[in-house]
Amino acid sequence: MQLPGDGHVHTEYSWDADQGSMDLTCARAVDLGVPSVAFTEHVDYTPFRAGFLVEKVPGLVTDGILRATELDAEGYLESIERCRAKYPELRILSGMEIGQPHLHDAELRKLLAQGTFDRLLGSLHCLLDGDVYAEPWELYPHRPADEVFREYLADIPRMVAGSELFEVFAHIDYPIRSWPDTAKPFAPEDFEDELRQALRSLADGERALEINTRIPLHPTILKWWPEEGGERVTFGSDAHLPEALATGLAEAVAVAEAYKFTPDRRPELPWRLKR
Ligand SMILES: [Zn+2]
Ligand SMILES: [Zn+2]
Repeated sequence: MQLPGDGHVHTEYSWDADQGSMDLTCARAVDLGVPSVAFTEHVDYTPFRAGFLVEKVPGLVTDGILRATELDAEGYLESIERCRAKYPELRILSGMEIGQPHLHDAELRKLLAQGTFDRLLGSLHCLLDGDVYAEPWELYPHRPADEVFREYLADIPRMVAGSELFEVFAHIDYPIRSWPDTAKPFAPEDFEDELRQALRSLADGERALEINTRIPLHPTILKWWPEEGGERVTFGSDAHLPEALATGLAEAVAVAEAYKFTPDRRPELPWRLKR
């Protein structure tokens, strides 16, 4: 089976991926027959409650608040060019994964002006909790999981309305990754109205939906996507290590094909809905 392009990959240029390697990830892609890779490095301008990350990146945390280092755009783009020269058989996209892009328009435009970034993912990693932003896993201990997920979904239309910079919405199931064992098991039907509204806003905003394979995307969400007007999907392993590249992509392709999504002319392009 021909694997699709991996549209969401991190390297050593992401603040949380010091074991990443752009070079080794390219080598791995060639070995596996992955036709294209988008290096979407973290761009996070929202300070947020660090939680357990204080142990991973103590240098970024002050008074419990994590402030990510800014992407070294120049070094990153040089590395992209080196890899394109070294791996001509691989289509390499430059890119970013932008956390809360609607909150940081001015900073983002400055960063984007430093070069060409082919693939921009928009992510909602944090929600407001009192007067500070926090990741879902920081909220679950003191707020009901269903309430956190509803608030997350309600933020998606705000993010679409507030930023035209991103073309793909990453991991719509992000809060499900850390879903607490003590909560009722996640079922999309329990959030059907809110999920459909979020999907509708993404479709109306002409964004693609990412099938992030860190956890399998619930097929019902993918079924609702074209029903709400969605036309394009991308695939992303969200690898932070070379060996994690393309993990779960084959399974995700099977689900996407079942819902009538099909490859476009080139492997790095989002898949389209079959007409
Ligand atoms: Zn993310
Ligand atoms: Zn990511």
